[in-house]
Amino acid sequence: MRKPILAGNWKMYKTVSQSLSFVEHLQGLVDDLEGVDAVICAPFPSLYALKSQLEGSSIKLAAQNLHQAEEGAYTGEVSALMLQDVGAHYVIIGHSERRQYFGETDESVNQKVHAAFKHGLLPIICVGEDLSQREQGTTKQLVEEQVRAALSGVTADDVTRLVIAYEPIWAIGTGKTATAQDANEVCAHIRSVVGEMYGKEKADGVRIQYGGSVKPENIEELMAQPDIDGALVGGASLDPGSFAKLLQGAR
Ligand code: PGA
Repeated sequence: MRKPILAGNWKMYKTVSQSLSFVEHLQGLVDDLEGVDAVICAPFPSLYALKSQLEGSSIKLAAQNLHQAEEGAYTGEVSALMLQDVGAHYVIIGHSERRQYFGETDESVNQKVHAAFKHGLLPIICVGEDLSQREQGTTKQLVEEQVRAALSGVTADDVTRLVIAYEPIWAIGTGKTATAQDANEVCAHIRSVVGEMYGKEKADGVRIQYGGSVKPENIEELMAQPDIDGALVGGASLDPGSFAKLLQGAR
């Protein structure tokens, strides 16, 4: 069975001291993480400090982006090797905010997926439609294209190690959640696309998260869906009390 994975995407929030105090607080609230993979996707400057604070804990660290090149003259960018070195275990790739504001494309997403695997980082690949695409009824087609492009050249062994996050753009930070059934329908479609590419057995092993206004109040209903294996949570992951409740609800 697929182990649930709950990831808090802090985006561009929290200084190093705020990050450390979050974790200290969280560790006082949750002592047992049995049955769920807990992930904190922190801003780059906090990763190294969090690594030592999380020593011995089962909470895993993630970065929110990486550059696809091995190294080089790319001012302002951060490589997979650097992230692995400061304790990142996962890395978010192709978040809609990066596609929208920083020009990321299906092609660069695919390159980043390969760069991540090369250095032992596990990708959390984000896909999802905007409101007009949802209204035009092209959601499944668009998400399928994003998934196929992101996974191009990924081996069958690696595919079961990555995570796909379905995040409808119109639901991110808006308070509007897709209904659990709608979210599940798209997640099931993603699984069937992975199945066409790698076979059903592999597809059944891939963890698919839902993201977009997930809160302690709706996590259980989302997790009850057969094809939703976790959540990628922005706003509601910033407070340790709320994150602790989300972890509880995801188990
Ligand atoms: P939200 O963000 O939970 O604040 O809607 C989710 C995300 O962007 O990953």
